[in-house]
Amino acid sequence: MAKKEFFRDKRISEITGGREVICPGAHDSLVDRINALAPDQALYIDFPILPKQFDNTRKFLKYGNEARAGVNPEAPPAEAIARALHDAQVPFGSIVVRSRLDRLTVTRTMLDTCIEGMKLYAYSVQNAPIKVAGPYRGQSVIKDFGAVFNVDVPSEERKIERHRVKLSNVPLYDVDSKKQLWTGIEAVCDCDFTRWWITGRYLQERLFCQHIVAAYYAVAKFCTRNRLFKDQTAEDMKVPSWAVPFPIFSEVAVGYWNKMRAQVIVNTGKMRKPLNSGKRSKLLGDYTAAKGKETALWHPGDKKIIDYNWY
Ligand SMILES: [Zn+2]
Repeated sequence: MAKKEFFRDKRISEITGGREVICPGAHDSLVDRINALAPDQALYIDFPILPKQFDNTRKFLKYGNEARAGVNPEAPPAEAIARALHDAQVPFGSIVVRSRLDRLTVTRTMLDTCIEGMKLYAYSVQNAPIKVAGPYRGQSVIKDFGAVFNVDVPSEERKIERHRVKLSNVPLYDVDSKKQLWTGIEAVCDCDFTRWWITGRYLQERLFCQHIVAAYYAVAKFCTRNRLFKDQTAEDMKVPSWAVPFPIFSEVAVGYWNKMRAQVIVNTGKMRKPLNSGKRSKLLGDYTAAKGKETALWHPGDKKIIDYNWY
């Protein structure tokens, strides 16, 4: 389906046209090569990006390595996620958070999806506001089990206006339950993405799409702006922003991602193509491993993600 201009993948001619095309060697660091691209340069990768045993992206994401968070019950979410990314074995392309509510469910977010969701959120702030409704559930239940929100997120597709996302188990109070709740934040979206694969490694597994990521940012913002219950303190209102259950990438990491989308093509064996989401996820894993969490991730006080350079 055709995407809106702001979201569509670049065509080969747009990536290479008028640019000096550089071919890296198989032993070059692609992270360094992509990072070093000047605006008038493009990269043509003429060898497989994924490890040999995975002949396609889907297999890599299903059976390749992953970052795992949620094991240490005391670590705050951002720290647990940063540590999971740090400890993950390269190559990896997604992060899973294991729920401490039921100890069965895991939620998985592809690294590329994390940034696509950030971009969608930035777009919505400028162009088509995300609508948040809720919280549903009574106040007494929310303290222990978190809140439910229904969220309308604009679509990147031209022909689809909005996606409906339902977020559950969102912590709203600065109490002990928040330490479990953030690992068990669940979401469903009406798009196809969340249905298209499950790895089968876990008894219960959910895949977050970019609409869910964008919806979560909108809910976090909504909660910091609105006192939803009379007894909520200023600290309580910050809890959803504290509980973000996926990595928030830094401005420089997003700069690297922008280059992956706008200045890199790959030979898939049959044809030349822009990098797909799976390959971008793998290269984001490589980036995180090479640069470290200080560089790759957003930290409090950094520029707001809506003010990053998105193109
Ligand atoms: Zn979706």
